Amino acid sequence: METVRTVAELRSVLDALRAGGRSVGFVPTMGALHEGHLSLVRRARADNDVVVVSIFVNPTQFNEAGDLDSYPRQESEDITLAEQAGVDLVFAPSAAEMYPEGFGTQVRVTGLVTEVLEGLHRGLGHFDGMTTIVAKLLHAVSPHSAYFGQKDAQQLVVVRKMVADLAIPTRIVACPTHRDPDGLAMSSRNAKLSAKEREQALAIPRSLAAAEAAVARGDREAASLSAFVERVLLDAGLEVEYVAIVNPATLETMLSVDGVSLCVIAVRVGGVRLIDNTVLQPSAKGGG
Ligand code: AMP
Repeated sequence: METVRTVAELRSVLDALRAGGRSVGFVPTMGALHEGHLSLVRRARADNDVVVVSIFVNPTQFNEAGDLDSYPRQESEDITLAEQAGVDLVFAPSAAEMYPEGFGTQVRVTGLVTEVLEGLHRGLGHFDGMTTIVAKLLHAVSPHSAYFGQKDAQQLVVVRKMVADLAIPTRIVACPTHRDPDGLAMSSRNAKLSAKEREQALAIPRSLAAAEAAVARGDREAASLSAFVERVLLDAGLEVEYVAIVNPATLETMLSVDGVSLCVIAVRVGGVRLIDNTVLQPSAKGGG
C-alpha cells in the first residue's frame, strides 16, 4: 500500500493502478478510522480491483473552530488500519494541497436538501464545505464507485444530488450504519465521550428502536413519534438539537409514516455532537 500527499502523485499512481480498465472504488474519510469506515472499505474491496481511501479533515465543513481543533487525528494508526483492510492507496493531503493560496471555488447544492436539519443547525457553510471537497476528491480520484455511510443520511442525499447535477461519472453507494454491540453508531467523535456520556448516548439507539417499535405497533403520526423519540433523549439528559421524520429522498418533513420514512436526530452529550438515524417503514400488513 502506498500513501500519497498530492493530487499529482495520486493521479500518476492511479493511472498505473487502473491500467487495463481495472475498477476503482473510493472511500472518502476524515480519518480516525473505526469499524464504520472499515465496513465501507470492505464493501469497496469486494466491488473493485483497486481501493483508494482519502484522509482529510476538511476545515471548511466545520462550523465550530473548537470542533475542528479537537477533531481526533491519528494518521499513522489510520494508515496501518487501511493497509490491514486491503486498501491499495491512501490519499492524505495537507490543507494547503486541497486549498492552495488563492483557492476561490465553491460547489453548492441549493434547495431543501441543504437547508434543513444539518444545514439549519450547522449552517449552510457545512454542506458547501463538504460538497466542495467531495467534488474535488471525486475529480482527483475519478473512481467508478464511491462509498458513503447511511449514518450521515443527509450527506448522502446531498452528494447524490451534486453527482447527478454535475454529471460526475461515479456511482454513489450507500452503506449501512455500523454500530457497536451496545447499539451506538460508530463515530470518530465517540472517542471524546466520557464513560458517563457514552452511557447517556445509548439513549440515541434506544430512542430510534422505540420509534421503530411504535411504527410496528401501528403509530403513524410523525409529530407524536418525534415527541416520543425526543422524550427518550431528554430523559437521558441529552440536549436535543432536532428530531425529525422526513422523506428519505427529498428530506421533506412527513406528517405521517405511510411509506418509507427516515427518523433523523442530532443531540449533544456534554460537548460532543452526535447524529444518527433509522428507517421507519410500516409493515405491508399494516398494523393500524
Ligand atoms: P467521516 O470520517 O466521519 O467523514 O466519515 C467518512 C465516511 O464514513 C462517511 O461516508 C460516513 O458516513 C461513513 N461513516 C462514518 N461512521 C459510520 C458508521 N458508523 N457506519 C457506516 N459508515 C460510517
